[in-house]
Amino acid sequence: MKITALAGGTGAVKLLRALYQIIPAQDLTVIANTGDDLQLWGLSISPDVDTITYALAGLLDEAKGWGVQGDTFSCRAMMGKLGEPTFFALGDRDLALHVHRTSLLRSGDPLSRVTERVCHSLGIKARVLPMSDDPVRTRVQTPTGWLAFQEFFVRDRCEPEVLDVDYEGAGSAKPGPGVIEAITSADRIIICPSNPISSIGPILAIPAIERALIDTPARVLAVSPIIGSTPVSGPAGKMMVARGYDLSATGVAAVYSKWLDVMVIDDSDADQADDLRPIGIVPVITETLMTNREREIALAKTIVRALS
Ligand code: GDP
Repeated sequence: MKITALAGGTGAVKLLRALYQIIPAQDLTVIANTGDDLQLWGLSISPDVDTITYALAGLLDEAKGWGVQGDTFSCRAMMGKLGEPTFFALGDRDLALHVHRTSLLRSGDPLSRVTERVCHSLGIKARVLPMSDDPVRTRVQTPTGWLAFQEFFVRDRCEPEVLDVDYEGAGSAKPGPGVIEAITSADRIIICPSNPISSIGPILAIPAIERALIDTPARVLAVSPIIGSTPVSGPAGKMMVARGYDLSATGVAAVYSKWLDVMVIDDSDADQADDLRPIGIVPVITETLMTNREREIALAKTIVRALS
């Protein structure tokens, strides 16, 4: 059973590494958000692609949810002394990947080919596809103006009020090589428990990708990143409200309603099943909080069962 997953970073990888363990690796394709990519210290950084890559390679710092386990930050300290911005933490080992990617991009390789090479070098057997080789940049509108996603997310710790979210360049971006085919020829599609606005939103903002989700014969299942009326982590709540969605699993389903078939909601949200059925979405009720590896595997198994 070929599974294609749409993913952001920290929430998505908990499910992805479990899926990677329980299904044949070559059956898994991940379409990764690149809307929060950035340039720092002259380097091209793709945070969600990297979090997924590190997780599948077994290199992720699981306590932080990003970066390389056991990394050190000597370069960052020196950069600070030199007056470079240090709000976005890049570890010393992590830096190797950014230097490598930047050098390949400068030699003319697109991000998709660079990502394929990195996955191959790190022994990853699943496919990781950046959503696009074209730049798409998520921006957050706040009372003081528009911020680049990482300025809002990391530098300002998600504190500013969110008025709107926008995906610059998405309207004219082409899907990355293999992305449309991965959606239209998959047996099943999983939308990871990721921020619907800032992680899945940029992927959906590329018109050909949303079209493919509408057209695909594959069943599409999403896992809610919202339990009760709060996100498990991060700014999904204020972003959903800014975009006019209910802050609930049903609100997440509304973001995906044009093409969603199955919604996985938490046991504690079981009463929302009655809101999903009338809009044609089959609810699956289970424990969705992944606080350890056993829970990640349990959720992945429930999802695979629900899709078989
Ligand atoms: P980001 O790029 O780091 O923001 O990564 P994601 O968008 O993939 O992950 C953030 C989202 O994951 C947040 O909206 C969280 O609510 C959600 N999330 C994190 N951990 C869990 C979990 O254990 N269960 C569920 N259901 N959602 C989670």
